Amino acid sequence: MSLLARTRLPSPLLNATAHARLLGQQGRRGLASAAPDRRVKIVDVSPRDGLQNERGGMVATATKIELIRRLQDEAGVRCIEAGAFVSPKWVPQMGDTPDVLAGMPTRAGVTYPFLVPNAKGLETLLRLQGDMEAAGTAKKTDEIAIFTAASEGFCRANTNCSIDESLDRLAGVASKAAEAGLRVRGYVSVVAHCPYEGRVDPRRAADVSRKLLEMGCYEVSLGDTVGAASPSEMLAVLNECTRFARPEQLAAHCHDTMGSGLSNVLAMVKAGVRTVDSAVGGLGGCPYSPGATGNIDTESVVYALQREGYETGVDLEAAAKIGQWINEALGKANGSSAGRAILARLAMAQTKGKGEGNDQRESRL
Ligand SMILES: [Zn+2]
Repeated sequence: MSLLARTRLPSPLLNATAHARLLGQQGRRGLASAAPDRRVKIVDVSPRDGLQNERGGMVATATKIELIRRLQDEAGVRCIEAGAFVSPKWVPQMGDTPDVLAGMPTRAGVTYPFLVPNAKGLETLLRLQGDMEAAGTAKKTDEIAIFTAASEGFCRANTNCSIDESLDRLAGVASKAAEAGLRVRGYVSVVAHCPYEGRVDPRRAADVSRKLLEMGCYEVSLGDTVGAASPSEMLAVLNECTRFARPEQLAAHCHDTMGSGLSNVLAMVKAGVRTVDSAVGGLGGCPYSPGATGNIDTESVVYALQREGYETGVDLEAAAKIGQWINEALGKANGSSAGRAILARLAMAQTKGKGEGNDQRESRL
């Protein structure tokens, strides 16, 4: 059965009341996602998207596993992109994904999509999970992520084939994954700007998104991989996508190269998107896009959504501490200004607390 809603939905450029009414109508139609309108799911992509282009030496497997553990146990993240079954020749940082899969702790209620570019990657994941089950260990994940791009130039650079060829290949991966009981998340890169072709037609991005949904993806993440889009450019893509998809079938994946990542996330959420991809400490980058900075940081997304009255379930202080820890582990400056501010305030509060304690002790002497 197609996952697509055939009903033409109104423009996502709705005011809040109209949007609440829209969700209410969907609820009455029995959609599973008629969840509270203010809840936003954070997909922390730092263990994969955040680390895959790390240039400062190989990140230890134990560090990746600890990152996953902290995100789920300390920050309360409920969806963590944990690794990628890609060729180590092309993405050396993901070469230890089988070890990450084997060693990572899991928690009930948390999902762990692993990026799988082709049938070979899926076979590896299925074999490893089969071995685990044969050895009496529960399988670690029930979800994969597949990806393509909205521009031919980026698709060729990233996957060495045309968009149509990549979609053909992915359709086979998606159907095999479904047979194996895995859910499939789709990514579309460069939905608004391409480093090779410049502006991308929103209808092109929507067309690729529709094909991913049609092949069985439960959700498609719209990627401003370059981090150059403006809110209205992202909303133009969303607008085209809501011709065939429900807003809750779409996710915002924004980078912050030009400083518009958070504005784009907020615009997408206010327009009805309820899933946001982000990375603690602003980890990440794009090897095909000169100067591209990391993913929008989880800390600023969680902070801004809280201020705007949305719930993410993510512990902001814990996320800030994890962002600082992982950047230190990588020998980098913390890429999250929100994280740095939160930690500075915590440090000040602790110093003040200690000072007050000393004052009291002194006054008792
Ligand atoms: Zn990204």
